[in-house]
Amino acid sequence: MNNINLNEFMEKLTEYPQLEREEINKAYQYASSLHEGQYRQSGEAYISHPLNVAYILAGMHADKDTICAGLLHDTLEDTKITKEDMISDFNEDIANLVDGVTKLSKMNFSSKKEQNLANTRKIITGLTEDVRIIIIKLADRLHNMRTLQYKSEFKQKENALETMEIFVPLAYYIGAYRIKSELEDLSLRYLKPEMYKRIEEKKIKIEEDSNACLQEMLLKIESILAKKEIPNEIKIRTKNIYGVYKRLSQGHKLSDIHDLFALKIMVDEVENCYRTLGLVHQEYHPINDKFKDYICNPKTNMYKSLHTTVFGLEDRLVQTQIRTFNMDKIASFGLTAYWELEQKNARRIMQNDLKNKYQFFKSLVEINTMFGDNQEFVRQVKMELFQDRIYVYTPKGEIIELPKGATPIDFAYKVHPNLGNTMVGAFVNEKYVPIDCPLQNKDRVKIITDELSFGPREDWIKKAQTTYARRIIKEFQN
Ligand code: MN
Repeated sequence: MNNINLNEFMEKLTEYPQLEREEINKAYQYASSLHEGQYRQSGEAYISHPLNVAYILAGMHADKDTICAGLLHDTLEDTKITKEDMISDFNEDIANLVDGVTKLSKMNFSSKKEQNLANTRKIITGLTEDVRIIIIKLADRLHNMRTLQYKSEFKQKENALETMEIFVPLAYYIGAYRIKSELEDLSLRYLKPEMYKRIEEKKIKIEEDSNACLQEMLLKIESILAKKEIPNEIKIRTKNIYGVYKRLSQGHKLSDIHDLFALKIMVDEVENCYRTLGLVHQEYHPINDKFKDYICNPKTNMYKSLHTTVFGLEDRLVQTQIRTFNMDKIASFGLTAYWELEQKNARRIMQNDLKNKYQFFKSLVEINTMFGDNQEFVRQVKMELFQDRIYVYTPKGEIIELPKGATPIDFAYKVHPNLGNTMVGAFVNEKYVPIDCPLQNKDRVKIITDELSFGPREDWIKKAQTTYARRIIKEFQN
């Protein structure tokens, strides 16, 4: 991905009203003169970095203030300007965004130093104040990763590791898959260069091999949908290199990865997703146990789609993903899709949805209130949120997200504190289990309660894995 210049940037802004374009241009001129005489390690003028960050944000249809903040994001730290200047030259919103991004600039996630831990904490909790700060930070990190070749090998590895440990999970949690997969691939390229090249070469080969067959299926499905008058667009989607690497490291063979390439079928409305599913199944036999309905059961980061793997042409197994055009925007951009889908209301909806729909958010707020010490906070977030997660069902089929190793105790408290406080036993997949038995992905969990129970026992604190459950149990003891 090459750096863009001012013209290309301005072209990207055609959808913005004239007045907004003028302010964005003003922010560019402003940042450009402030960074005058500063250069990047590549030898380019420094302004090319904020310009590219703003370009990434414009690609997400970010609001005007966010784009201005992207252009100005390094000025508070690297130049003489102050926040007060910025408020009077622009506005408070822009100044706050830039200030927010600046506060999280000198951080280092893998280091134990107090200063760095404090910064890491700010990055993570920045989400709770204004999610746009994190999005600007993600765009900033993305451009730095794209231009990492100019740094020393030590810096490359350090940045790549930090990206995997903190920015990739954050991108995943807000559903920004496009950024997430690019960050993963860029990181892997520096962390395991040989492995990266090997997978890339093999992938290209398989791509050449299977392209004709995928194209033929694509055209076939297109003509079937056209006959039924279902508006659609179909694309071939490839798994990223890191996704393949992860599967290989779990012991799978490359030839067993059925979703290396997938057909992504986008249609106009939900009802047509299911009609399309039926039509695809009539043409190509599905594998029964590979069907997933993420429309009725969305992922906890709001990803929605139907997935089905079918016997395609030339005996190839092909995954098809069926979703509406709007679902596809959420699938690519996550929370940031609201900028395009909701326009002026985007900011409010983003912050509201984060609070009410994204399960990780509540856990994050909880950990933030419970752990005053920065080192403990970072350790707990890594353990409870940034490591492997499991997804289990309530008796009604709702999906509850928990850290790996979580028990029915954690489940009960996550559903409702009262459910935990009156719990006397648990069924997992219709089998009676001890209440501290570790849950597995896709378990169905039913909590048995008794209003007359004595409440949680003190030893449950040790059995619980989540900060929230532990706090409620402790509160009950007091
Ligand atoms: Mn920067």
